[in-house]
Amino acid sequence: MSRLLMATLRGLGFLTAVVVLTLVTQIGGAVLLGAWVLARIWRPRGRRSLATAGLFTALYAAASLWVVPPLAQLGGRVPLPCTLSADAPVRPQNPIYCVLNRHYATPQVGAMLTALAGDLSRRYPGLQVAYLDANFPFIDGFPLLPHRSHDDGRKVDLAFFYAGPAGRPSAAITPSPIGYWGFEQPRPGDPTPCAGDPRTWTLRWDMPWLQHLLPARDLHEGANRAMVLWLANSGTRFGVERLLLEPHLQRRWGVEGGLIRFQGCSAARHDDHLHVQIRAFVGR
Ligand SMILES: [Zn+2]
Repeated sequence: MSRLLMATLRGLGFLTAVVVLTLVTQIGGAVLLGAWVLARIWRPRGRRSLATAGLFTALYAAASLWVVPPLAQLGGRVPLPCTLSADAPVRPQNPIYCVLNRHYATPQVGAMLTALAGDLSRRYPGLQVAYLDANFPFIDGFPLLPHRSHDDGRKVDLAFFYAGPAGRPSAAITPSPIGYWGFEQPRPGDPTPCAGDPRTWTLRWDMPWLQHLLPARDLHEGANRAMVLWLANSGTRFGVERLLLEPHLQRRWGVEGGLIRFQGCSAARHDDHLHVQIRAFVGR
């Protein structure tokens, strides 16, 4: 293979990595470009690609820990807690959400989650609220794929609670290790508004191949119902303005109406997690 062709392929691979890292982590593409420039200035012995990868890892970690949080705060977003604290039993369902910088939100989202977790842990001692995707640190309108929203700091997805040992609720035992895509199926007679949808190319993924691979879990009806009802009622004091939940779970938990909506048949299913949106606070 000619050297020109090899160089072209390497360049395309690098550009693809920049684009993918930007889409997945927002800052990763810029950090990779910075690492590439530094590796060219530094001129390390051995393979430059290895030096670039090492520099990228170090720079990405340093930026995520010490640079991004204060800069994000200037734009009105703060990181949701990545570890448990005594006063806020709130954590990511999987550390990957923090590693990828997908855990940023307005301070009001954080306050809402702390209040929700406080209420639920009084009813179910030891219960922790686990979040999934929230938002990236910067830029209103920058998409957090594959979500259709989550682009303004005001959205957060929450893991459902499942029945653990002795029937106690836990968000740590979702069928899928990342909280998404382990769908609760409608029961006979439940509403299935998308059953006759002829379209095959929508974001409503059923992933039947995956469901067989995931462990069977039972939703903890009481804890999930308590979470949804708190958000739809007390949550309004913290700005909650919309919840997205699949109709069959709305009916099963007796929480239909009000702020609780169905997202439609073009968007992702909401019987593997709960979507929460809070209103924009003036002057945030
Ligand atoms: Zn969502």
